[in-house]
Amino acid sequence: MEGYVPGLQPAPGQKLVKLNTNENPFPPAPRVLEAIRSASSDALRLYPDPSASLLRERAASLYGFDPSQVVCGNGSDDILAIVMRTFVDEGDAIAFFQPSYSLYPVLASIARARTVPIPLPRVSGPGELERLPVPCPEAKVFFLTTPNSPYGYGFAMAWIARLLSVFPGIVVADEAYADFARETSLPLLASHPRLIVARSLSKAYSLAGMRVGLAFAHETLAAEMAKVKDSYNLSGLAQAAACEALPDREHLRETTARIVATRGQFAARLSRLGFSVLPSEANFLFTVPPAGRPAKALYEGLRARGFLVRWFPTAGLSDGLRISIGTGADMEALARAIEEESHGG
Ligand code: PMP
Repeated sequence: MEGYVPGLQPAPGQKLVKLNTNENPFPPAPRVLEAIRSASSDALRLYPDPSASLLRERAASLYGFDPSQVVCGNGSDDILAIVMRTFVDEGDAIAFFQPSYSLYPVLASIARARTVPIPLPRVSGPGELERLPVPCPEAKVFFLTTPNSPYGYGFAMAWIARLLSVFPGIVVADEAYADFARETSLPLLASHPRLIVARSLSKAYSLAGMRVGLAFAHETLAAEMAKVKDSYNLSGLAQAAACEALPDREHLRETTARIVATRGQFAARLSRLGFSVLPSEANFLFTVPPAGRPAKALYEGLRARGFLVRWFPTAGLSDGLRISIGTGADMEALARAIEEESHGG
């Protein structure tokens, strides 16, 4: 089988502006670092809480759910893998848009499941996305990346509700980037027992290195997932960090607002340079350079100038670049590098 291909992680000490794996350019909240320090103690001799009770309570109360509706994962990748192990048997099918998160077909191949990729068109705005016909594939689970990666656009709650009303299986809203978006599908959980919402603390909470993901679902689905997950899938340090990260709404609001503002400015800058930019609700943009400027050459040129962005050597994606949103200064420097590359400098 083909394994998942993660974005490049430069060797320590390599000087690159890293805009290829949608990490947060800002540090985690100070109280999170403090919590990790105080959890680095003699208590590490002991196994962590297998059910991450405190974290589940905090996550549940944040969004008005019951802790029985929350399952924690070692990153949201773990949540996606738990969903597969819980609900998908050999020979079953899973559906997802193409392009979307490239982990789904890998998980399918591990499970010996079939895949039903559904072409996702490039749209120019949210209105066009809302008019996208709701698919009803023959599949057990539909993985909906929202906001989509690598395109960046977010599906409206109303569209997801329509998907839930026609598709008879389980819908997983993979909301790794939802903290940067206008809408989340979490309110739909109250009336849709076949919805699972997967969230990540890697992006908006700056905790990619800690590995924390959350699943919100009807308690019946959550109970099945809790049986299947590894007992100690979240380390004690990860639980301590996440318990402090979630309640710090001010830190989240401030850092996500900065990233969203920078995203708008950078998109406008790219448009002025003749690039087409897909509408993004995430902490990255998908952009296609003007005609005659191959994305691969630009990717390589930027790399030589010390900027690492993501170029996918995949049919249907190789004409563009996915660029994570860094600090304002990162994006200003990148925009200048792109201008210089455009002038053949
Ligand atoms: N879903 C999507 C759409 C992603 O892009 C990523 C990040 N690669 C993940 C899930 C997994 O994120 P994590 O495991 O760090 O929570």
